[in-house]
Amino acid sequence: MVEVKSTQIGKESMRFEQLLENIKFLKIFLLRLLHKAKWIYLLLIFAIAIGISGWTVESNFIRIPIIGFHDIVDTQNPAELPPQRLAFSIDYTKQDLSVFLEYLIKENYWLLSSQDLYVYFIEKSQPIPAQKIGQKPIMIAFDDGYKGVHENALPVLEKLALAHNKKGKFVLFVNPHFLGVDMGRDFLPHTTCNDLRDGYKKGFYDVQSHGFTHKNLTQINGQELEFEIAKSKL
Ligand SMILES: [Zn+2]
Repeated sequence: MVEVKSTQIGKESMRFEQLLENIKFLKIFLLRLLHKAKWIYLLLIFAIAIGISGWTVESNFIRIPIIGFHDIVDTQNPAELPPQRLAFSIDYTKQDLSVFLEYLIKENYWLLSSQDLYVYFIEKSQPIPAQKIGQKPIMIAFDDGYKGVHENALPVLEKLALAHNKKGKFVLFVNPHFLGVDMGRDFLPHTTCNDLRDGYKKGFYDVQSHGFTHKNLTQINGQELEFEIAKSKL
């Protein structure tokens, strides 16, 4: 009996030592983990702080994309393709524009006029109209006033507006000096005043100044600058 008992005691003391060993190992393991975890926690707090502050800053700003085009060319019309007419790097196809605009209209984008941009988002002098709340603002602009915009881009917008019962604006930055000017097959023809009037009356054009004669406004003197800006507004 005694022997058995001593053996049991021996076994128990072995187990106890084993347990102590395990606890010691666990303690070291936990201490090491805690040491590492300290950095993990700090990193986590840092990341959360950045996230929160980023979110706060982000929520104060609205990013409004302004997409700029120049000429729009119909690839289905041979008269608008070489050799009938030169191809230009600023050409964008009516077919691609159609896909892009349809996407915007289906995805609930609000095609802003320059006035909308200024009043509702820059100056914020008026609240966003109720029917526009929830729409995503974007500006679709065309530089230089090329004829292709009126002949190819406007019909696409008109068609989409009718199909989806949603109106949007194109912002045309034109150079009055070149309105109606057609320099032949070597360059792109420009819209006329009547084209602009037509798109404006239909409610699709917002016509803005791109300078009188398309000078680089950063490279001219004060007098020329005044002329380019003032004359283009007349
Ligand atoms: Zn230009």
